[in-house]
Amino acid sequence: MRFSDIKGQEEIKRRLVRTIDTGRVSHAQMFTGEAGSGTLPLALAYIQYLNCPDRKKGDSCGVCPSCKKIASLAHPDIHFVMPVNKQGKKSGETITSDTFLPEWRRMVAETGGYFDEQMWYDALGLENLQGLISKKEADEVIHKLGFKSFEGGYKCVLMWLPEKMNTEAANTLLKILEEPWAGTLFLLVSARPGLLPATILSRVQETVVPGGEFEVRRQLRGADTAEASEEFEAFVELMRLSYNDKHLELMKWAERVASLGRERQKRMLENFIRLLRSSLMINAGLEDIAYLWGAELDFCRKFAPFIGAHNVEKLVEEMESALGQMRQNASATIVFTHFALAVSKLITKN
Ligand SMILES: [Zn+2]
Repeated sequence: MRFSDIKGQEEIKRRLVRTIDTGRVSHAQMFTGEAGSGTLPLALAYIQYLNCPDRKKGDSCGVCPSCKKIASLAHPDIHFVMPVNKQGKKSGETITSDTFLPEWRRMVAETGGYFDEQMWYDALGLENLQGLISKKEADEVIHKLGFKSFEGGYKCVLMWLPEKMNTEAANTLLKILEEPWAGTLFLLVSARPGLLPATILSRVQETVVPGGEFEVRRQLRGADTAEASEEFEAFVELMRLSYNDKHLELMKWAERVASLGRERQKRMLENFIRLLRSSLMINAGLEDIAYLWGAELDFCRKFAPFIGAHNVEKLVEEMESALGQMRQNASATIVFTHFALAVSKLITKN
């Protein structure tokens, strides 16, 4: 990945290039921002620039052996750590990132590095399971960094979503963040730095990558359009049926949603909350920051008048309560049946 392959973020690119050009590379760094803001592509471009022997005009050359190996995520001195898991894992079995390097390479190649946690889990075929970064993984990282650099450049560890480390892993990592070895770069790429222990946060130099939410959704949407539009349609249908008091059809709606996978149902509810909040913003005359476009914007504009102080809090409460119950593995049929009826009571014609 070259900096020129990344759209926008010119200010951040210039700043990153300058730190390398002036030899002020901190050994422990963290890029933070949402998936669609380009934190991962920026991290990859940064590492490639750092290791390129033939930098030109503030970018890596893209053609030298180092650049080519880094671009294909196959450089012997660059290690990747990401949250992993597998369906049907035996108890006591620990799996580490290296097992999933082929999937990782494919994901980065297909999306240009613009993907979020859920898209990664989908690529791993995880249903109702999250990834995690284990103590064993942290041990392996330290072991790998103990080797001499194969190619004479920086040895780098790029850890994607360090917030998925468990406490033991974080404690292990702390040791190396406290006294980083010469010629090594520890680069964390976090979407939710607030979940990291303060001990880690205080030891990394942070680069905050701004990302308009609009940008995020557009990027992620491109990769996941079918699902997003289905969720939007489910929202529209729920609101239409509720508005018209079609109880029988609402039950069918609940049945259909209940038959989807659990992770999918949680994403759907999160999406509903977003659409609801956006409608409220439109209602309040804040359309500019509602981050909607196309069919979503059209619908939410029409729907906005039915959302207001009298019902919005209760609606969000119902959605969050359903989401909470789904997280606790409640029966989907019961949760969504109750949910559909509760929503229909809150959406009324007058
Ligand atoms: Zn190069």
